[in-house]
Amino acid sequence: MYEKRRLNDFPFFETVQEILSHYSCPSTCPAICCKIADINLDENDMQILRQASKYKADKIKSCNEYGELHYKMYPPCPFLEFDKCSVYEWRPTMCRMFPFNICNMPDALLLFPCDMGVSIFEDYVEYSENILKQPVPAKTIDAFEQSHCSFDIKLNKGLPIPMLIIKIDELISLKNI
Ligand code: SF4
Ligand code: SF4
Repeated sequence: MYEKRRLNDFPFFETVQEILSHYSCPSTCPAICCKIADINLDENDMQILRQASKYKADKIKSCNEYGELHYKMYPPCPFLEFDKCSVYEWRPTMCRMFPFNICNMPDALLLFPCDMGVSIFEDYVEYSENILKQPVPAKTIDAFEQSHCSFDIKLNKGLPIPMLIIKIDELISLKNI
């Protein structure tokens, strides 16, 4: 999916941007997403990154993991400097979606259980219960809370961090928060 069209061509990209406009990352977060996420880039992302730092951009490996040529950056991101993005204005499309991430399900995104992800999730739970009158299932809330609670331990041990799967049509209600 990602490699056939640009990620920001998808309607969910705009929706995610709208949601994120209401949140900001806490200054205490040491850019964890940039230290653990694989970043897929397309040629447009690469062209933009080359304007910021040709030297580093030229070192990014191309790959055809999904059958078409694109690029991938492995964590920790080479553009991370002192826990800050050194190419923030030029950062790739996927980075503009943190703490949301694409997944291999075409109708869903992942939500990362970091501090900002928790803020978004808490608002979502409240909105679903009070406005939509469709409470989020308790097991989903428990799973996300557990994932957040074990976040630091798993991070330090290099273990996979479970993320919440959010159906893309549920993003619309998140947008209304
Ligand atoms: S998206 Fe989450 S992990 Fe990334 S900088 Fe923001 S709070 Fe930290
Ligand atoms: S380009 Fe910037 S925002 Fe994206 S992963 Fe690297 S440091 Fe983080």
